[in-house]
Amino acid sequence: MSIISRFAPSPTGPLHLGHAYSAMLAYDMSQAAGGQFLLRIEDIDRDRSRPEWEALIYDDLRWLGLSWPESVMRQSGRLGAYDEALDKLWEMGLLYPCSCTRRDIAQALSAPQEGVSFGPDGPIYPGTCRPSAPLTGPRPNEVLRLDMARAAAWIEQRTQLTSLHFSETGDQADQFCTDLPLSRLAARCGDIVLARRGMGTSYHLSVVVDDAAQSVTHVVRGSDLGPATILHVCLQKLLGLPTPTYHHHRLIRDETGKRLAKRDDARAIRLYRDEGASPAELRKWLSLPLAP
Ligand code: GLU
Repeated sequence: MSIISRFAPSPTGPLHLGHAYSAMLAYDMSQAAGGQFLLRIEDIDRDRSRPEWEALIYDDLRWLGLSWPESVMRQSGRLGAYDEALDKLWEMGLLYPCSCTRRDIAQALSAPQEGVSFGPDGPIYPGTCRPSAPLTGPRPNEVLRLDMARAAAWIEQRTQLTSLHFSETGDQADQFCTDLPLSRLAARCGDIVLARRGMGTSYHLSVVVDDAAQSVTHVVRGSDLGPATILHVCLQKLLGLPTPTYHHHRLIRDETGKRLAKRDDARAIRLYRDEGASPAELRKWLSLPLAP
């Protein structure tokens, strides 16, 4: 099987060394197998995405020596595909609108009988807006949550699976779950949001729909996203999409051990470029082999 990998940055700030690591790792993996490396711009957050950051992504990646097919997928042009996926899940009776604010959720969780546990998106939603029976009728244009217990039951019934699983080729696999009984899915992930206010989708939904649309076979990304992957597998099962192989890599940290963030301008690839560093030097610092 030929490998199709991808790099999927959000144009909300300059790429830093951690992004360089992720992109080069995904690129090297595809090149070593004679496969393809794709780029996808994850710009569904219209408030934070900027064309100048997107332009800088192209410059930085070219400077790193990476190349990709001309036709770059941009999530802002894919709202119809996310809509279709939401329609499907709505018709399956698995979504419900939620009007809770963060504050409402925090308050509900502070009640003495509620213990707080954490899922891929933070505190597990206490279920305040969850209906007792599946909703029918037209899909409301609101924040929508996935009823995770019902989703697990649907998967079990339709696929006869009793657990969700993905193949992991990174060396961080012991940090998160790659195999989860469906009976534990709801407690592990909670009713996650699939359509956010003003966005019409969410990171989880769009990444799953787009990896499938781009026929991605190998998802290479930071281990911070590892805990969300079992949820992505759940969405793939519900939407009838294939599950790629995952490679979650170590996070690049500064000298104090803190992981790099977009606001860490000091580690921006652009600055290394401006200071005359070479991509080969970056590869050496990141312990990556020279370009294939
Ligand atoms: N767009 C995400 C980010 O910039 C990465 C998504 C992914 O690799 O799945 O953090």
